[in-house]
Amino acid sequence: MNSTLRALLRSELAELSSYVPDAASYAVRLDANEAPPLLSESALARLSELASSTAWQRYPDARAVALREAVASRLSIAVDEVLVGAGSDEIINLLLTALGNPRPGDSAATILTTTPTFVMYRLSARVRGQRVVEVPLDDTWDLSLAGMLRAIDMCRPNLVFIAAPNNPTGTLPSVERVEAVIDAAPDSVIVLDEAYVDYASRDLLALRRHENVVVLRTLSKVGFAALRVGFLIGRPSLVSEVDKVRSPYNVPAVSQRLGRAVLEELWPDVRVLIDQVVSERQRVTLGLQALPGLSVAESHGNFLWVRTERLAGEVFEGLRSRGVLVRSFHGRGGRLAHQLRITVGTAQENDALLTALGEVLTS
Ligand SMILES: *Cc1c(COP(=O)(O)O)cnc(C)c1O
Repeated sequence: MNSTLRALLRSELAELSSYVPDAASYAVRLDANEAPPLLSESALARLSELASSTAWQRYPDARAVALREAVASRLSIAVDEVLVGAGSDEIINLLLTALGNPRPGDSAATILTTTPTFVMYRLSARVRGQRVVEVPLDDTWDLSLAGMLRAIDMCRPNLVFIAAPNNPTGTLPSVERVEAVIDAAPDSVIVLDEAYVDYASRDLLALRRHENVVVLRTLSKVGFAALRVGFLIGRPSLVSEVDKVRSPYNVPAVSQRLGRAVLEELWPDVRVLIDQVVSERQRVTLGLQALPGLSVAESHGNFLWVRTERLAGEVFEGLRSRGVLVRSFHGRGGRLAHQLRITVGTAQENDALLTALGEVLTS
């Protein structure tokens, strides 16, 4: 690219790289928090049948009415409280754009979140030239209330992103702390990202009674990552503003139709899948705790946050050379140098993980 063209690029791009998952092939992939392939034959047949009836020449419903109605009905909320996106990733982008007006005197909007947490909050804000402030979680991986309150006071964020359950820690923030953050930031929009809520013991949907709260949900972590369907739930007055940023045909027709079927017809199948993952999560937790030098945080997601006495990078490489891919946070240093995130897979995958890990830790 010549230097005149290069000068057109946003300066933030120089510090960023594309998000590229490891594309190599592994016998066991437990790195991306995908659900295991446990859908019944009848559910798979129904999905194929619906996909094959798509009117391929037509644009999708620009307002995604039937899908939004299915979400509203499943959550007992109103249709105008719901916006659908191509995954919650897209909705994060829509929120950052719609609510991106800098405060008077600032040159860019400020985004507040925690660390460690889901990386897309930071990446999506940075590509927009927004300022990102990250408050470390406390030593139980809960919100640091003092830290959050100080950051709200000092940097007056446009948006505050809190993942509940949090990725990569699998922990739920305590409700009192979330409420204290909401109360302390009446002039910010608090985004409660519940991507993993179907695996959790409680949800925060009721907190949408606060004017400044929105909730994110997705089908990605319960078996439908391929569809790219996510939801924003919030006050109609805010949802309708965010909707102006959305591309009219953002969610493909197949995804709208199949997403609706998942919510309306196939939810019993999804519940079976969730129960199987939760029961495997318990079994794998016990299996990990029986291995030397490991401890496991209580998980409310479909993955485990594992502390290794050994450096996480060494354990990660040991597993990888045995065909098992997990996520390591050793590159981030500090207390994360000993942390792995391991997705709960099928019983066979989990057994392969435990066997490989046993070998790595005793070699
Ligand atoms: C996976 C994940 C998402 C992204 O979900 P999509 O709907 O697939 O875009 C959002 N938030 C968190 C915390 C996640 O871990």
